[in-house]
Amino acid sequence: MIRENLIRELREVVGDRYVLVEKEDVIVYEQDGSILQVMPEIVVLPGDVEQVSAVIKAAKRANVPIVPRGSGTGLAGGAVPAEGGVVLSLARLNRILKFDLQNRIAIVEPGVINIDITKAVAKDGLFYAPDPSSQTACSIGGNVANNSGGPHTLAYGVTTNHVFAVEVVLDDGQVVWLGGEVPDTPGYDLCGVFVGSEGTMGIVTKALVRLKRTRESVRTLLAIFDQTDRATETVVDITAAGIIPAALEMMDQLTIEAVERGAPCGYPRDAAAVLLVEIEGVREHTERAMALVQSICNRNGARKVRVAQSDAERQL
Ligand SMILES: Cc1cc2nc3c(=O)[nH]c(=O)nc-3n(C[C@H](O)[C@H](O)[C@H](O)COP(=O)(O)OP(=O)(O)OC[C@H]3O[C@@H](n4cnc5c(N)ncnc54)[C@H](O)[C@@H]3O)c2cc1C
Repeated sequence: MIRENLIRELREVVGDRYVLVEKEDVIVYEQDGSILQVMPEIVVLPGDVEQVSAVIKAAKRANVPIVPRGSGTGLAGGAVPAEGGVVLSLARLNRILKFDLQNRIAIVEPGVINIDITKAVAKDGLFYAPDPSSQTACSIGGNVANNSGGPHTLAYGVTTNHVFAVEVVLDDGQVVWLGGEVPDTPGYDLCGVFVGSEGTMGIVTKALVRLKRTRESVRTLLAIFDQTDRATETVVDITAAGIIPAALEMMDQLTIEAVERGAPCGYPRDAAAVLLVEIEGVREHTERAMALVQSICNRNGARKVRVAQSDAERQL
């Protein structure tokens, strides 16, 4: 009975079309990127912050748990409704609301896909730095909740370093902004507390994010090693030499084999490890740093060191 009343109330808030209860509809929300599987009773897709607030109030009155969901790529089961109840999908809140190119900030809704921010500002020489490997699918709301990072975390940090403010709906339906238009606004860092809280403290309905300027030059190097230890020593030596690569990824033999079986890139299957090093900055810096990285790899016994000669080769 409670459930029927809640469904009716939710339909009044968001419209019939955006409340899913049939098994064949809700089954696609029973899983995320993890191995956990629990079927939600109700999936609701609000279209704006007022609807998010009304949904939360209705579920709270009915004493039914709510789990927010972005794109469902999370690897920790955070979007899986462990105790049943309502899954609140943010997929319809997918608008980029504002770009301020002069101050290099953007305000986006939580359902915006990570890569779409960079796509929208690339022509202006800007990009959004946090780049989880799932960035063509994962949402900004999920990134904020999980404080996600990616291959470029070494140089740029994680989501918390690029989100200045969030609009959130709290568990009583109250809508508040935390943070401000610049980093380190006076007072408690409540935005920082919220980023990484995995949806447990409320629902993000807007994020004010920082945009970075695209670098003049990007150079990428691949080094192949016959011993894993020599590859890890190379990582230590690169950072000890004062070089902070934009990205520094190591793949061991097992990973190389998995990549070559799944999406072949031409990595040598007999290597113990490969290192991928990316250096960004002004041209003079990248040339000098790349030469130094190359010599460190050679000194540590790399079997082969290859520097990409063009953008096309770099994308490989
Ligand atoms: C192939 C692959 C590669 C990946 N690579 C990386 C990587 O390099 N780095 C990395 O950090 N992660 C990575 N991930 C994990 C995942 O993509 C990230 O954690 C991502 O941020 C999740 O975003 P999502 O939109 O899919 O969130 P979901 O999976 O839908 O949700 C994740 C969590 O956020 C909560 N949530 C979602 N939206 C909101 C909201 N608006 N308000 C409050 N809470 C919300 C959910 O309740 C849940 O707890 C990868 C996953 C896959 C499948």
